[in-house]
Amino acid sequence: MPEVTWAIPGETAAHAVLDDFVNSRMKLYEKRNDPSKPQALSGLSPWLHFGQISGQRCALEAKKAVGKASPPAYESFFEELVVRRELSDNFCYYSPKYDQIEGQKYDWAKDTLRLHASDKRPYLYSLEELERAKTHDDLWNAAQRELRYGGKMHGFCRMYWAKKILEWTESPEQALKFAIYLNDTYSLDGRDPSGYVGCMWSIVGVHDQGWKEREVFGKIRYMAYDSTKKKFSIPDYIARVNALVKAAKADFKSGESSHAANPFVQNQRAGGKQAQGYGGGAIIQIQITAFFCIDTFDKLPIFGRRRRVTPRRRRRTCSKSPASARAKSARAVRTCSTK
Ligand SMILES: Cc1cc2nc3c(=O)[nH]c(=O)nc-3n(C[C@H](O)[C@H](O)[C@H](O)COP(=O)(O)OP(=O)(O)OC[C@H]3O[C@@H](n4cnc5c(N)ncnc54)[C@H](O)[C@@H]3O)c2cc1C
Repeated sequence: MPEVTWAIPGETAAHAVLDDFVNSRMKLYEKRNDPSKPQALSGLSPWLHFGQISGQRCALEAKKAVGKASPPAYESFFEELVVRRELSDNFCYYSPKYDQIEGQKYDWAKDTLRLHASDKRPYLYSLEELERAKTHDDLWNAAQRELRYGGKMHGFCRMYWAKKILEWTESPEQALKFAIYLNDTYSLDGRDPSGYVGCMWSIVGVHDQGWKEREVFGKIRYMAYDSTKKKFSIPDYIARVNALVKAAKADFKSGESSHAANPFVQNQRAGGKQAQGYGGGAIIQIQITAFFCIDTFDKLPIFGRRRRVTPRRRRRTCSKSPASARAKSARAVRTCSTK
């Protein structure tokens, strides 16, 4: 599995991404649900996850720059960054079963999943088929490849991706286990309260309401390929992911890193050496230092290397004790809340 090279670890790079976002890209935030144009997202989650920048700092800087974007764009960003993120932190902190079906406290959702547990699934995929993006659905496969090769799936696709895992696996329990395993294994921002709640929202209806009842999903909110394709251009998204995968594979083959462009950043010149530029000379200088650190101290867990997945490790991870995961998540929540 190739190393992710677009995200430079550390506080300085986190501030550069934040600056670029609030000053140039926050105005696009209202259009963030188009995964072929990832610059509309902040791209901050890896740095937030590792505590290299705080949510509070991001919120304050966004507020200062509010004149550069429309108030609704700022408000939507604030809603995700503060309201959604803190809902997730609170859910994991206060729910011992934050990554299990029983963690959903409302009966309507557990009952509906139970009632539809034996419904015939239109497709059934193994963990390996999902992991290798070998499904019939080109959008889902692109999302999984973006996660696997890029280390971060677009936010809109994450919902579709997790909901399809519910549709194509043997049971809601298995769906939740597979989704959390894939998210935690491949996402730079994985192993995070927002990830557990994202999976619980998609599959178990946490922080959601009941919808029209249908096969497999029961009253859990459904997402369809046909309605999704009306929202954005699926071919454009697939083309973007194909380019990302090609660059990652070329790096892996040559054993060198091209430090591929940060897909979330707008003010950068294309191509190898300057691809990470955030627009200013100072930042390029910082990048060179950061690259040096990455290349020299490759094994230092600054961002943590994503885990190499072996069948043995997969078995271990899938049966990982929820207690140890909980302790880890609670520690992460404590660390965030003391900043
Ligand atoms: C199935 C699924 C899995 C997810 N896994 C993760 C994960 O492992 N780690 C993770 O940090 N987020 C996760 N999310 C939440 C969300 O998709 C990501 O936070 C977001 O895509 C990160 O990209 P960004 O920083 O560019 O987002 P932006 O839209 O720019 O958001 C800015 C910040 O707000 C917070 N945020 C945004 N959306 C959400 C949300 N729905 N819930 C909670 N906080 C949010 C994040 O901290 C994010 O960095 C998941 C969502 C789903 C549906």
